[in-house]
Amino acid sequence: MPTVIYDASRIDFSLPGKTHYQIAFHLDGSWGYSLVPVTVINGRRGANPNGVICFGGTHGNEYEGQIAVKRLCSDLDSGRMAGRVILVPQLSESACRAGSRTSPLDGVNMNRAFPGNARGTISYRIASFVKNYLFPQARVVIDVHAGGVEGAFPVCTSFHPIADAAQRAEIAKVSQLFDTEFAFIYASTMASGLLTDEAEAEGKIAVGGEFGAGASTDATGVRHAYEGIRNVLRHYGLLEGEIVRIRENGAAPTRLIRADQLDSYVPAPRDGVWEPVVRPGDEVKQGQLLGRLHDFSDHSSPALEIVAPRCGIVAMLHLAARPVKGQTLFVVAEQVEWSEVLD
Ligand SMILES: [Zn+2]
Repeated sequence: MPTVIYDASRIDFSLPGKTHYQIAFHLDGSWGYSLVPVTVINGRRGANPNGVICFGGTHGNEYEGQIAVKRLCSDLDSGRMAGRVILVPQLSESACRAGSRTSPLDGVNMNRAFPGNARGTISYRIASFVKNYLFPQARVVIDVHAGGVEGAFPVCTSFHPIADAAQRAEIAKVSQLFDTEFAFIYASTMASGLLTDEAEAEGKIAVGGEFGAGASTDATGVRHAYEGIRNVLRHYGLLEGEIVRIRENGAAPTRLIRADQLDSYVPAPRDGVWEPVVRPGDEVKQGQLLGRLHDFSDHSSPALEIVAPRCGIVAMLHLAARPVKGQTLFVVAEQVEWSEVLD
């Protein structure tokens, strides 16, 4: 069984080998704890300046990252590794146990809780632990997401526009190691308090991604998350071996798409029943029909037709059948050259 840690300052992050912990965060409404799983691996083949931290379960209803990171907790062999890897398969442990996006304990979205607050509610205290105890241990941060019940995405890695050219190029390079069909540059302004925001602001190499949707487990998404993280460890020399292709041989290189302006995140103009007619990852023309919003209060009324405001790639479509006014209905991204971020 993992060792229960009540005081984070007691974790010895340099203990050789592999150690499993549960970090106890006291509950706010009753006696007891949320026990957040953390595995720390210090490879026995020497040091490495590029520590890596991988998170799954930042949102509780996104399973590919939880599974991929948990499997790595078992599969990685410290005897064959160099440097430090920290694995956190269920960061918002209470949300994961509830199968919900936000924590049922405080209603907080863990991916909006950064930089956290050591005296805040449980999600803020966990975020504060990540920032103050985990981030100092690594310079590469991977946060594996999926669309939950809100968004349908093509399987993709993702990152923000980054001002610093060297940091931007290294992030872009790491995003390619997951060998997904797409890598998505998304708007920093669409939300605040993200785990990757905080890591980027500290100058770290932070990559996220959407590896499935619908609160299900996507086999392709798990494979990209699991093998992609192993590729990251190989790339930085923590794990031996060559980078592997994850898609079948002959698959086209990862396509880079960008929607870095907020007006690309188009809200539903009214409540309705959503009938998408394109799929995530589809190429669309300006004015092409993306879907119809139906109003069943008058079944004789024509559907509201939602069309693409520009040509590009469908980077996100509302997944659930009943979007409400204001929820993001779709994102059409532009395809860009890798040279824009790698050089
Ligand atoms: Zn998520």
